[in-house]
Amino acid sequence: MFRVLHSAAFRPVCSQRLLKDARRLHSTYDVAIVGGGIVGLATARELILRHPNLNFILVEKEKELSVHQSGHNSGVIHSGIYYTPGSLKARLCVRGATLAYEYCDKKNLPYNKCGKLIVAVEQEEIPRLKALYERGQKNNVRDLSLVDAKGIREREPFCRGIMALDSPYTGIVDWRMVALRYGQDFEEAGGRVVTEFEVNDISTATESPQGTAEGMVHPIVIRDTKGEEVRSRFVLTCGGLYSDRLSQISGCSREPRIVPFRGDYLVLKPEKHYLVKGNIYPVPDPRFPFLGVHFTPRMDGSVWLGPNAVLAFKREGYKLLDFNARDMVDALSFRGLQKLVLKNITYGLGEMYRGFNMAAQVKLLQKYIPEMSVSDVLRGPSGVRAQALDRGGNLVDDFVFDGGVGDVGSRVLHVRNAPSPAATSSLSIAEMVADEVEKRFEL
Ligand SMILES: Cc1cc2nc3c(=O)[nH]c(=O)nc-3n(C[C@H](O)[C@H](O)[C@H](O)COP(=O)(O)OP(=O)(O)OC[C@H]3O[C@@H](n4cnc5c(N)ncnc54)[C@H](O)[C@@H]3O)c2cc1C
Repeated sequence: MFRVLHSAAFRPVCSQRLLKDARRLHSTYDVAIVGGGIVGLATARELILRHPNLNFILVEKEKELSVHQSGHNSGVIHSGIYYTPGSLKARLCVRGATLAYEYCDKKNLPYNKCGKLIVAVEQEEIPRLKALYERGQKNNVRDLSLVDAKGIREREPFCRGIMALDSPYTGIVDWRMVALRYGQDFEEAGGRVVTEFEVNDISTATESPQGTAEGMVHPIVIRDTKGEEVRSRFVLTCGGLYSDRLSQISGCSREPRIVPFRGDYLVLKPEKHYLVKGNIYPVPDPRFPFLGVHFTPRMDGSVWLGPNAVLAFKREGYKLLDFNARDMVDALSFRGLQKLVLKNITYGLGEMYRGFNMAAQVKLLQKYIPEMSVSDVLRGPSGVRAQALDRGGNLVDDFVFDGGVGDVGSRVLHVRNAPSPAATSSLSIAEMVADEVEKRFEL
């Protein structure tokens, strides 16, 4: 039998009786959504709000929703400074941040608009910082300003720097809590959520149940690893770290390929929380793929430092020694990863070294808060990023959709790449994906 989510954080809205009826009445669906991360849930919600008369189901392989990227991230509501003007990433982030604040206000979800400083500590960083300021303005990021050393001290008394970009619109929130609330909206509108359903086959029906034309109306069959089935007219996958494998099983290309990068955080000891008020970020180095280690206050009052970025030996592997042979062979045999490693070998080795050596990581952080020492930090949690890579070893930076051709392909849409900050952008991504679903499937 299917399992419908029951957790303290996410109460089923229907009574047991209604759920039973729902099972009986709607064993087939108009649209099945695969993946209960923040992107799948936001899109499921958007679709059912637009089409209340259609039947929707969302399936998720874990016992609970949003336990991977959407439950293991920095918790920042990004304002949209970094991204290339005009790119989808820039537009989705700026709109997404506004929608996220409005949504949290409407649903009484707690957040803290604690702001962010991007701090230059060396003269050579200043031209890049000014370029970021201009980029942020082109992206219509609200309330940006450049501040000097005194301005930095006024905002962050323990932070040193010569100039900073101040973004008071940046905030923090618990993204998993937000994702679960999207799921609740979806259920309240009549959508069905099924957990512990790990999709391993998407195909067309070869026969209809006796005496029906079911196979014609709901031709797509989604099977899980236990052989359970869901039939639907259309399928949308939002598989995060498995988006390439979900695409492959429906006959689509495996590229862009997903390579998992683990980010390990340190945490400040509680007696040192006073050192950090808002988000403090370095000026990103354009030669390197990630934003650099940062100071992030959390909604529970803790302060996270990091993350670094190292190749993970397992997709969804949160511990240093987590290992999966298929994932490793997959990643290491991919030309794209081999090229990326060659291009960034020094950076990669540095990240690995800092992953093992806390003192080396703290040394980087002391450039911003000199008062901090190794004895002030502990090892913290980790997250794993679904990094999409092309064959040339280039990080795929923007949103990617993929569908296919033929019986299955024309009824399936894959969200192949929903890069950071997809949590911030989740509501605007949902609008865009829902538009695409309507267009392709003529809902
Ligand atoms: C370390 C880190 C820090 C980040 N910090 C931020 C931040 O501060 N702000 C921000 O906006 N963004 C941040 N991000 C990015 C953001 O968290 C992600 O972009 C976002 O959560 C992606 O959501 P998703 O739904 O695509 O993926 P996921 O949350 O990974 O969800 C995918 C879901 O699909 C399910 N699934 C996969 N395969 C199957 C299958 N075969 N059958 C059924 N279900 C399946 C998985 O179990 C999972 O629940 C960060 C990411 C990381 C890793």
